[in-house]
Amino acid sequence: MELVSEEPDTVLVVGAGPVGLTAAAELARQGARVRLVDALTGPSGEFRAITVHPRTQEHLAAMGVLDRIEAHAQEITAVEFHVRGTAEPAVRLTTGHVDSRFRRILDVPQVDTESVLREVVTGHGVAIEYGWRVDDLVPDGGGVTVTLAGPGGTEHRRYGWVVGADGAHSAVRRAVGTHLEGEFAGEHSVLADVDVDTELPPTALRLFVDPRGGGGVFPLAGRRAKIAVRVGTPDPGTSPTVEQVQRLVDEQMGGHWRLGTAHWLTYFESRHAQVPRYRHGRVLLAGDAAHIHPPAAGQGMNTGIQDAVNLAWKLALVSSGRADASLLDTYDGERHPVGAAVVAGTSRLNGLLAADGPGALLRDLGLHLLGHLPAVGDRLMATMTETAVSYRAEGERTTSHAVVGDHAPDVTDLRTATGEPTHLDVLLRRPGHLLLVVGAGETDLERLRDVLGALGTVVPVVSSSPAPSEALIDPAGDVGRRYGLGDHGFALVRPDGYLACVSRALDPRPLHEHRRIHGLDARREMV
Ligand SMILES: Cc1cc2nc3c(=O)[nH]c(=O)nc-3n(C[C@H](O)[C@H](O)[C@H](O)COP(=O)(O)OP(=O)(O)OC[C@H]3O[C@@H](n4cnc5c(N)ncnc54)[C@H](O)[C@@H]3O)c2cc1C
Repeated sequence: MELVSEEPDTVLVVGAGPVGLTAAAELARQGARVRLVDALTGPSGEFRAITVHPRTQEHLAAMGVLDRIEAHAQEITAVEFHVRGTAEPAVRLTTGHVDSRFRRILDVPQVDTESVLREVVTGHGVAIEYGWRVDDLVPDGGGVTVTLAGPGGTEHRRYGWVVGADGAHSAVRRAVGTHLEGEFAGEHSVLADVDVDTELPPTALRLFVDPRGGGGVFPLAGRRAKIAVRVGTPDPGTSPTVEQVQRLVDEQMGGHWRLGTAHWLTYFESRHAQVPRYRHGRVLLAGDAAHIHPPAAGQGMNTGIQDAVNLAWKLALVSSGRADASLLDTYDGERHPVGAAVVAGTSRLNGLLAADGPGALLRDLGLHLLGHLPAVGDRLMATMTETAVSYRAEGERTTSHAVVGDHAPDVTDLRTATGEPTHLDVLLRRPGHLLLVVGAGETDLERLRDVLGALGTVVPVVSSSPAPSEALIDPAGDVGRRYGLGDHGFALVRPDGYLACVSRALDPRPLHEHRRIHGLDARREMV
């Protein structure tokens, strides 16, 4: 069959779920040419994931849409573990200490998150092309030839790069000859999105430990909740009922919820698996196409969205000729271990929720200890909310300040030159890298601007006004302290909010070296 088109600068994103939508939005925002296709005839109405964790909120804030997500959300400030239906939690962990500007979890139906993301994608001028299914693809050194079945039949098109965000049954994954590796025994849960009547405040997410299965109640806005309970293998062809879920809630969750109308009820089989590699030359896998695991801590969609944010700025630079393709190896290097840890952690949590016999005794002892060791509880909360994600080099010692690979910390009293409060995520709404420079004169700034070039923006940080219009005012010197710069130095923040390069001096050579290592071309402007 003849090629219909050849677009070597274009990235084809396959799948308009939360991960493909985020990838397309971020690719476009960071200056890439994008085409986004989905096999469905229109948006999926499936309720699915609900938790939006703080790190994901930071990304959504940088994309400029967090307020729109908040409008659909129930705010959660605690995660409680209840043993065998008791009203009093064995352990209550709060979000008060997570290292984020957003110290809360947002519970939002996935349909609403996707609807906001669709607005962002189309706002960047990218059409969401439903009714286009990728059936096959063949990558080579110069591009990827894709077989697409669309409204007018099957055709071949050639793109520079492909992002496989086509979910757990990914055709892209199959086409590059890889597969999920892991445990496929399958655990079944009943999932319900229902109206609820309860005395319990809606600000806590409650996990119930029970040898009969265990599960969780995730409050939603407007007296609704998502209820998940592990069950045995359901009879083929059967669907759950509200009465069945009410019985499980009464038996395993202390009967604290009276269920009303169900908006969505389904059985869900979860597995634990991951592909060995996320990068296959010019094809990159993200989200459920790359990793699947139980929904216990609500991390599936979050991990996928964060894959997309990590990948998009790199692929935008590479596909537009502003960086070497080797930069894409860091996508696999950084995100594969995160995915592996999520698969392992959620599998452990699932096992713990339903443990019986000696395993249950150990778990109950562990929960008791957790209740008395706040630092351990905070660490667990940081892991669950994904605020512990860092791409630090192995063996990096613990420090009181952020180091290269860490998420760039927010600074509480940061102001613009006109005195308006601002935050790192607000600054990251501008595409490209951000170079925060402390203690610099105009000559230092000029030299740094020369080296950074079109890769991003140089932002001087000063302690008081009057300040140049592009400067930030940091009266308490928090940037210097939290970024480990002291009185003089600079920190290069990547477009996904992670620290790329830090120097305690104003000499631009470390910045030059960073650019050289990653083949970052500072001269080319965004397309
Ligand atoms: C029933 C259910 C309940 C869940 N509950 C939770 C939960 O409580 N918490 C949680 O964190 N996660 C949950 N998940 C997982 C969560 O929904 C996923 O992690 C998330 O949707 C992953 O997003 P994605 O974009 O990678 O994939 P998907 O959302 O699956 O999107 C993939 C898209 O690709 C499209 N596509 C597929 N094949 C092709 C093709 N060949 N060509 C073109 N397009 C294609 C599909 O139509 C789809 O729109 C649940 C999943 C299910 C199924």
